[in-house]
Amino acid sequence: MSHTSRIPGFYKLPVEARRRAVAEASDLDLVELARTVGHGGLDVATADKTVENVLGTYALPLAVGLNVRMNRRDYLVPMVVEEPSVVAAASNAARMIREGGGFEVTWDEPVMIAQVQFWDVPDAALAAARVWGARAELLRLADRATPSLVERGGGARDVEVRDLGEGLLVVHVLVDVRDAMGANLVNTVAEALAPTLAALTGGRTGLRILSNLCDRRCVRVSARVPAAALATEDTAGELVRDGVVLASRFAERDPYRAATHNKGIMNGVDAVVLATGNDWRAVEAGAHAWAARSGRYAPLAVWRRGDDGDLHGELALPLALGVVGGTLRVHPGARLALRLLAVDSAQELAGVAASVGLASNLAALRALSTCGIQKGHMALHARSVAQAAGAHGPEVEEVAQVLHTRGEVTMDAARRALAALRGARSRVAECFAAK
Ligand code: NAD
Repeated sequence: MSHTSRIPGFYKLPVEARRRAVAEASDLDLVELARTVGHGGLDVATADKTVENVLGTYALPLAVGLNVRMNRRDYLVPMVVEEPSVVAAASNAARMIREGGGFEVTWDEPVMIAQVQFWDVPDAALAAARVWGARAELLRLADRATPSLVERGGGARDVEVRDLGEGLLVVHVLVDVRDAMGANLVNTVAEALAPTLAALTGGRTGLRILSNLCDRRCVRVSARVPAAALATEDTAGELVRDGVVLASRFAERDPYRAATHNKGIMNGVDAVVLATGNDWRAVEAGAHAWAARSGRYAPLAVWRRGDDGDLHGELALPLALGVVGGTLRVHPGARLALRLLAVDSAQELAGVAASVGLASNLAALRALSTCGIQKGHMALHARSVAQAAGAHGPEVEEVAQVLHTRGEVTMDAARRALAALRGARSRVAECFAAK
């Protein structure tokens, strides 16, 4: 069933009404949605079976990223993130990208790399030749170690040998892990093949584990934004476009800027990764190793002015995400988030996460090259500060509004605004009582 991801005015609704709107715009049942997300999506008993030394659970906001259209399909995107403005910024930029037709995404087959390390290898060239000669047998052995994966169309695809010098040799086994993230599957393969590989290489066995630089499993996103869609209150779209291109060139030339540029991308990517129960440390490790693959740390996304005068963005990164296995076995909240997304494969999930990453990047560059990041960020940050200062319910918005208007988003200012608000309220109440 095809749903829209555009829900105008969504951010203004109270939480209950947002849940209703999402249930209506998806195939989720409202009662189940409310029950699952109401307590953070994970109960203590389940948490206790998930990791060690559990005391309880730790909640983060679960929100919905809107306006995402990828390969001509709409997605309501679950996002888990603690940083204000990430969801709003990504949704806003996704709306601009939507005006250019949405995100166009391609992805590789879900191939992960198992690494088996050998040391004291007497003759690396001979070892490599022997491994190559045994390629077919090695692939058969690998498949025998993961029969359920093979049944689902996955399995070992190839072997590679890399001579790291000084008697160190590493054998890569490339494994198609289908809809799993694949770390455990690939580790199983690495351990299963190690004795045979040791005999072939004549070396001593070292590490047997996946590589998180899963560069055979990349996602590529492109987007076109009509210049007019980029306009702000006081800056024309063409100027914003040129500002975004300049910001991109800055990141392409300077690793200090590239790190922050990529952090902005990962704001969006990680929020989707976390919401869907995936391993964000693995994603982060892979993304940054990929960004540095040329020997110089580079931006994951670049922006250019196209011949049509529009802004064109391209993002590529490796993404090892699963829609089965891992945390998804135990986390009802993550399973529900996946059902909201309604993706058919791990690759499609990676496409959505990368698209949200590109949207986050555009939002940051647009703000930075116009009014600066603080204006929008502080408007949202003001709410957190108001809450931290003790504001409750409707007081939060009122205090945040005062902070925003005064341009002073500090705890001190929030305490003063809250005291003034409560003072004014009690004076009004006294007035009514006296009448
Ligand atoms: P997993 O161990 O749960 O294996 C996936 C399971 O799903 C397999 O049993 C497979 O047969 C089954 N499956 C069902 N349907 C499938 C389908 N359509 N496609 C593929 N498999 C299907 O999980 P995993 O994905 O192998 O490993 C992920 C976990 O490993 C994560 O929790 C991650 O945090 C953890 N991990 C990560 C690292 C790392 O990144 N360095 C290291 C070790 C473990």
